[in-house]
Amino acid sequence: MIVVLKPNISKKDEAAVIKEIKQLGYKPHVMRGVERTVIGAIGDERTHQTLEVLTSWAQVENVMPVQKRYKLVSREGHKENSQIDVRGTIIGGKKFQVMAGPCSVEDEKQIMATAVAVKKAGATILRGGAFKPRTSPYEFQGLGEKGLKLLAKARKETGLPVITELLSEAHSEMVAEYTDIIQIGARNAQNFQLLIAAAKTGKPIMLKRGLSMKIEEWLLAGEYVLSNGNPNLMFCERGIRTFETYTRNTLDLSAVPIVKNESHCPVVIDPSQGAGRSDLVSAMCKGAVAMGADALLIEVHPNPADARSDGAQQVTLEGFAKLMQELKPFIAAAGRE
Ligand code: PEP
Ligand code: MN
Repeated sequence: MIVVLKPNISKKDEAAVIKEIKQLGYKPHVMRGVERTVIGAIGDERTHQTLEVLTSWAQVENVMPVQKRYKLVSREGHKENSQIDVRGTIIGGKKFQVMAGPCSVEDEKQIMATAVAVKKAGATILRGGAFKPRTSPYEFQGLGEKGLKLLAKARKETGLPVITELLSEAHSEMVAEYTDIIQIGARNAQNFQLLIAAAKTGKPIMLKRGLSMKIEEWLLAGEYVLSNGNPNLMFCERGIRTFETYTRNTLDLSAVPIVKNESHCPVVIDPSQGAGRSDLVSAMCKGAVAMGADALLIEVHPNPADARSDGAQQVTLEGFAKLMQELKPFIAAAGRE
């Protein structure tokens, strides 16, 4: 059940509702929006007392059942878009955000040059992989903690918040110490123990769609984050596995309006893993903006031909600057800044 509180009620009134929900035998999950607070009350109504009594409370606007299997992620009880505050950069608000940087952090010179260039071109968040999920064990696995330290250095230098992937539960504290957003990659999108560990760090989470994941499964994976006490979740579409071979994956842009409709969480598009081809990145970014995405995640490398991972899909520093200019009218047409 979802308990919607009246706008702008006091902390004391909110606490009283939470206490009552617990007393009735439900687990409350509080989601504080800009205007109002919504409480997800998880519990089996067949064995617990009904929450209907709360409808008579002065501080409660509405009590309603959530029909969908994903409860806290669903827009049913949480009408307004969630906004995620990443050290002052808001994802899911009026401003369109661009996360950019190399697939892998390779060395200091590479990450610094990229960070400075993407910031100058208008990116608002720096991406970079330190722990890389590679298909082959013989391929570059990332610099690990050294890579995280370089990312932190680039953050200090540019002021850009950073996003990096968490590959293993064993690294959750370490990764959370250095990053502002935790990325859960496509290959781990249904690693539920990892999702719980990531949620518990308290950092905002970007959950990629798995290679062959249905949208409902993806939304349910997101439910693991919210139901473990972390309201700061965004979904990232990065292409799915199909029969098509012209592209590395098939970027499912229909996921944007579907997920925006089903959920209040922000939606990010990653055209780089999506197509696996740098020449397609620009067109897919424009499509993503038009579809209503809240942000983009773009791989950028000073010299893609020499990249230690995903060379074919990374755009150059100059290519990224040009792309950002090209995107401006599309962002404005979509009603974003
Ligand atoms: C990446 O962002 O470099 C990456 C490995 O992403 P995905 O999990 O979508 O393949
Ligand atoms: Mn990559």
